[in-house]
Amino acid sequence: INSMHEQHSQLEETVAKRTQEYLDAKEQAEQSNQAKSRFLANMSHELRTPLNAVLGFSQLLQDSETDKNKRRYLEAISISGSSLLNVLNDILDLSKIDAGKMQLDMERVEIPTMCHELSMMFLQLSAQKDLDLQITSHPEFKTPVLLDSNKVRQVLTNLISNAIKFTSHGSVKVHFDFEERENDGHINIKIHVKDTGKGIPTDQQALIFNDFEQVQGQRSSEFGGTGLGLAISHRFIKLMGGELSVISEKDKGSEFIVLLPNIEFAESKTEVKHRNY
Ligand code: ADP
Repeated sequence: INSMHEQHSQLEETVAKRTQEYLDAKEQAEQSNQAKSRFLANMSHELRTPLNAVLGFSQLLQDSETDKNKRRYLEAISISGSSLLNVLNDILDLSKIDAGKMQLDMERVEIPTMCHELSMMFLQLSAQKDLDLQITSHPEFKTPVLLDSNKVRQVLTNLISNAIKFTSHGSVKVHFDFEERENDGHINIKIHVKDTGKGIPTDQQALIFNDFEQVQGQRSSEFGGTGLGLAISHRFIKLMGGELSVISEKDKGSEFIVLLPNIEFAESKTEVKHRNY
């Protein structure tokens, strides 16, 4: 009788376990369906807004009589066209990464040169807002390193333009930090992008890395954007085996930290490596 009891309770346990597994799988499928619908709704909105502007302004262009108006409408069409292309490129990047088709192209990178180029790129934008922009690197970076320079640049462009966009006074400081590993001579790079801007409420800090996510209550007409930049940056950094994190306090500022582990110094002048992940 005892052994029958045992068998019975084992059977009960198995049934309960299987039922739970089934319910978990069902919930997961529902969640992924909901995410897909949200993604499609957001994507349609992001594409429709600039496309409507293109159509609206081309109608105005057809009806306009003065050269001055024609120029204004053409400029508006061109801006909306670029924004449409940006959204499409972002979406293509995302789907390429998610399909596992994104490749890393490792190149020899001079970090001080990258800092200089980024400073030049954002000089005008930061000066317009009277922000103190500083982009610096640790002295050890006099030796070039191997990085996927385009992707690192794309991530930093996104982080710095966000920092400038969400800061109305004060500074944006970017610093490339250096950490040599004892066991293999590889290095870890930590890039800090720190602003004195509006900050991100604690409960939203984890969410902003999700696709299309923007801080709640933020009027999108005020800052624009698609909410895809951080999602792509996060995926790129993960692909490089690194991490992207944020420390922020509302109304005080934010600091985004990019960790790139296991980086090698570039030995030859033309070294290029392709890695598939
Ligand atoms: P986008 O800037 O196109 O909206 P992102 O994915 O780059 O998309 O950023 C998502 C959201 O995270 C932004 O809309 C904003 O709410 C918040 N955010 C990002 N960077 C900062 C920052 N430096 N300071 C304050 N909020 C930020």
